Amino acid sequence: MNIHEYQGKEILKQYGVAVPNGKVAFTVDEAVEAAKALNSNVYVVKAQIHAGGRGKAGGVKIAKSLDEVRTYAQELLGKVLVTHQTGPEGKEVKRLLIEEGCDIKKEYYVGLVVDRKTSRVVMMASEEGGTEIEEVAAKTPEKIFKAVIDPAVGLLPFQARKLAFSINIPKELVNKAVKFMMGLYQAFVDKDCSIAEINPLVVTGDGNVMALDAKLNFDSNALYRHKDVLELRDLDEEDPKEIEASKYDLNYIALDGNIGCMVNGAGLAMATMDIIKFYGGEPANFLDVGGGATTEKVTAAFKLILSDENVKGIFVNIFGGIMKCDVIAEGVVEAAKEVGLDRPLVVRLEGTNVELGKKILNESGLNIVAAESMADGAEKIVSLVK
Ligand code: ADP
Ligand code: MG
Repeated sequence: MNIHEYQGKEILKQYGVAVPNGKVAFTVDEAVEAAKALNSNVYVVKAQIHAGGRGKAGGVKIAKSLDEVRTYAQELLGKVLVTHQTGPEGKEVKRLLIEEGCDIKKEYYVGLVVDRKTSRVVMMASEEGGTEIEEVAAKTPEKIFKAVIDPAVGLLPFQARKLAFSINIPKELVNKAVKFMMGLYQAFVDKDCSIAEINPLVVTGDGNVMALDAKLNFDSNALYRHKDVLELRDLDEEDPKEIEASKYDLNYIALDGNIGCMVNGAGLAMATMDIIKFYGGEPANFLDVGGGATTEKVTAAFKLILSDENVKGIFVNIFGGIMKCDVIAEGVVEAAKEVGLDRPLVVRLEGTNVELGKKILNESGLNIVAAESMADGAEKIVSLVK
């Protein structure tokens, strides 16, 4: 789960990570009030969306007066911001962060990720802050320094110090940078983050080390023990179909194609998307209905697929191991009756209760194309939607 920059900064502040003073604003008036409350003559008006690259896209404005704050707030609120991370459709700005303008001397990068290779949390740091770190990694990987963190002892001060020196933090500010990194790591662990990215971390004219941006991402599997974090969820930033899916505990990801997929098991779901592509089609979603799905859950899943206007056909690909084919069949029939199935449906069933499942489908009166195999099914649905 993602949160907004201003929320991330609130959390980091609790861990002793320095951030500029600032406040969230939902309206233009709130933005001006928030600026008034700051003891500063330079203000930064920042669009709050769950995507980076706002600076380049015009979502971060420097204002030199309250009038300018008003102008920029008016401009940004309600605007659809398109950054390299939002996709071409962009994201509507509904919140702003009004923050003190910072006298930046230099921008750095510090990030924490869970590294699969070492099975550890790794802190990465670079002198090339402010820009896209992916670009630095691709072009000048030697400019990224890493510390692998042993979970038994956590980030050790010497590791942080070494990183700070490697990225050329001015000597007199190394202690502050170490405190920053230790705080960031503690927040990451305490809150069960999966990513914590500070880009840029800055050194300021008055000798501070601060987070000017904050991207925190949380492990959804651990959210049950972080009610405070869960409260920060902003449903406006999420795909309504994915929100609906999460109500039924379905693993659903919306994609751009036109073939809806209903599959059980994440591996089979991935393979199904692959084979659709192999035959020249484009999947409209990833959907794993899981092992112990009920008819109700399958019905919800099927409705979800049909609610996507781009879907021109559906491919149900089920290997019934724990999942029973008759349950799937009942769910499909139920949903089709409720919402009306007006698009081609190809079904491939295999496994537990497969005969019963096929019988339910055959007797439903629905126009279903049966597939002999996964490849056969993919080929059929691709040709049907064309
Ligand atoms: P994004 O990563 O989405 O582009 P950032 O928060 O990193 O957004 O802001 C982009 C750039 O704007 C930063 O690299 C920094 O140069 C500038 N900036 C952001 N916040 C401030 C601030 N409070 N004071 C001065 N400059 C800022
Ligand atoms: Mg940034």
